[in-house]
Amino acid sequence: MQLPLDALEARAARSGLAGIPTKVFAQERLSPADGLAMYQSDDVALLGMLAHGVRRRMHGDVAYYNVNIHVNYTNWCNQFCDFCAFQRRPGEDGAYRMSPEQVYDALQSANPEASEVHMVAGVWPALGYDYFLEILRAAKSARPDIHVKAFTMVEIDEIVRLAKKPLPEVLDELREAGLDSMPGGGAEVFSERVRQELYPRKMSAEGWLELAQGIHEYGFKTNCTMLYGMTETLEERVDHLRRLRELQDRTNGFQTYIPLAFHPDNTPALSHLPIPSPSERLRSVAIGRLFLDNVPHVKAYWIMLGIAVAQTALQMGADDLDGTVSQEKVYHDAGAQTPQQMTRGQIHRLIRDSGHVPVERGTLYEVRRDFRDGDPADLDGGPRPDLAQSLTV
Ligand code: SF4
Repeated sequence: MQLPLDALEARAARSGLAGIPTKVFAQERLSPADGLAMYQSDDVALLGMLAHGVRRRMHGDVAYYNVNIHVNYTNWCNQFCDFCAFQRRPGEDGAYRMSPEQVYDALQSANPEASEVHMVAGVWPALGYDYFLEILRAAKSARPDIHVKAFTMVEIDEIVRLAKKPLPEVLDELREAGLDSMPGGGAEVFSERVRQELYPRKMSAEGWLELAQGIHEYGFKTNCTMLYGMTETLEERVDHLRRLRELQDRTNGFQTYIPLAFHPDNTPALSHLPIPSPSERLRSVAIGRLFLDNVPHVKAYWIMLGIAVAQTALQMGADDLDGTVSQEKVYHDAGAQTPQQMTRGQIHRLIRDSGHVPVERGTLYEVRRDFRDGDPADLDGGPRPDLAQSLTV
């Protein structure tokens, strides 16, 4: 921590955060009331300072990233979430479904240094259970060395329904076909009120948490997320985090928390909503780090945050920038102005300029390359990232 505790508490008292620095210093769990106070306070800088102290305690000066690719294998979807600009029905303009052969080709032509493929998509029952086994086999046969992280909870829920088999049996078959871990998305925000309003067809909070528990107990790691900036209240955001924290106490299956800022562009029902401001995005990262004391990592997902905000988030609670990414469609369809990918060298510049050391990780946070002591590949990526462009996100 940069400031002594009494100075931090004096500042906290002026911004509705009294007692929180003391709890953070003592590594004491924050309450839902503390969570709400953090969302209501105007002192985002103080939250960032506290979260940075926690992040440094947990991870030192390391900032993680990975070299990954995205395969969004179909945008066919029957869930009709109001916030989603990615979904299409078959035959609609822009609708597509990749065949297993196309998934194979996408992996074969991908960056040979990629250690992970992130595969998520829409929900379309007519694809059939075997399709999912086939695209996993295609990915693994194209790149046997790659870690396949695939299927949000919503997709897994549908796959289990299509398989008509118990969850552990389905997970056995998916693992056999090539699945290595899951991204854990699809939670949105756990409020039943918001679900009824914006995504009534999507699985309930209880269904999501129960499925995540089953997946963790089976042995797969996942991440966890919160989509914020729609119509949820601050109390509903805190409740979402509380429920994630309680499940993590039981399973320890979440590796990373990823706060996801809602992008309203191209979503007709919600395009009147403002995009969460940079300050709100940084607050969400900091609160995630402070409140989710049992989740090891907090990710600044640069595709959604914007590059400039993601870099700043490394100093406000985040320890991971996600990856180089290529061909991401879900958030770019919703209006994200970020580039489709960054090079390793560009990511290194962002990390080094934020005062951290880049470490390339695998999906399960195994260290693949530590650039602390110099490496010929460090800063080899050509021009600096275009921060001005990303400021519009
Ligand atoms: S968010 Fe996912 S489940 Fe909802 S409509 Fe979009 S693709 Fe379908």
